[in-house]
Amino acid sequence: MKLSTELITSNFLSMSARLGNDPLQVQGPGGNTSIKDEKIMWIKASGTELANAETESIFVAVDRIAANAQANGYGDGTCIDTVIDPEINLRPSIETTFHAALNHKVVVHTHSISTLTHVISNEGRDVAKNKLKDMPFIMVPYAKPGVPLTNEILARVNSDTKIILLQNHGLICCGETVEEVSNLIKEVETRLYLPPKNISHTPPNKIIDKAFSWTSESWMAQDKIVNSYITSGSFYPDHVVFLGSGLPVSDANGKTPVVLHEGEGVAIRSDTTNSQKAMLKCLSDIMCRLPKSWIPLTIGVNAEAELLNWDAEKYRQKLAAEK
Ligand SMILES: [Zn+2]
Repeated sequence: MKLSTELITSNFLSMSARLGNDPLQVQGPGGNTSIKDEKIMWIKASGTELANAETESIFVAVDRIAANAQANGYGDGTCIDTVIDPEINLRPSIETTFHAALNHKVVVHTHSISTLTHVISNEGRDVAKNKLKDMPFIMVPYAKPGVPLTNEILARVNSDTKIILLQNHGLICCGETVEEVSNLIKEVETRLYLPPKNISHTPPNKIIDKAFSWTSESWMAQDKIVNSYITSGSFYPDHVVFLGSGLPVSDANGKTPVVLHEGEGVAIRSDTTNSQKAMLKCLSDIMCRLPKSWIPLTIGVNAEAELLNWDAEKYRQKLAAEK
């Protein structure tokens, strides 16, 4: 099959890079974009960063029909064997199946902070439904990324759907042109905007292991309520993948990237990767926007275990650690 690289237009690449460079849209190697015709779909490769869309080859071409078949239960759901060029050593995103199954030319998936802040609580979900009620949107319950999430999406989507809110995960917007999807994202972001509260903190006094240093996210340990939320578990998949379950209060295994000292601060290990730093900032960006009356719900220990023992995520962690 001949590759039609002209599908990847400069405005598609610039939208991808713009979202990737905005920590309120995408953090580290999270989020993904795709553009397709009837036969071919270009999708972000697993472990790459949208921020590099204009400077590196981060997209991989897959056979759209074969990837769509995987969305519907054929094959292993990774879409690795749907990559068209056998020479390429990049894997398509873990989330390739829903991109292939959604019948729109351009599909964009972000881990938008304003969306995440709404979709991690029942109160926020109700507010989001109200704010978007005249738009073509659906809300999908949490499922493990990959085929389980694609199944939940396909069970609810209809031919009008262009906006998908993923509970405890993020946002998908789709349409026929890059401009249409960019405008949709802008409109959703405007409607779901929540102002950040002032997050100043007192510099911690506690002496900690010299492998660690205090972070500007230390305010979360000094706020009693936020402290209790973020030590209770994880609210979305990429937190688990890059920081583990919740925020641990001790460095039990000598490798913990981030440790929360209750009432004192949040400490980060000196060799922490940029992806891990981005995920810590993500948690702080959400917590400083969370209205007091919204009670965040974790994805639960079973969902965390599914992510931690998943080969596809181990591959993404490995690539991210090399950066
Ligand atoms: Zn995602």
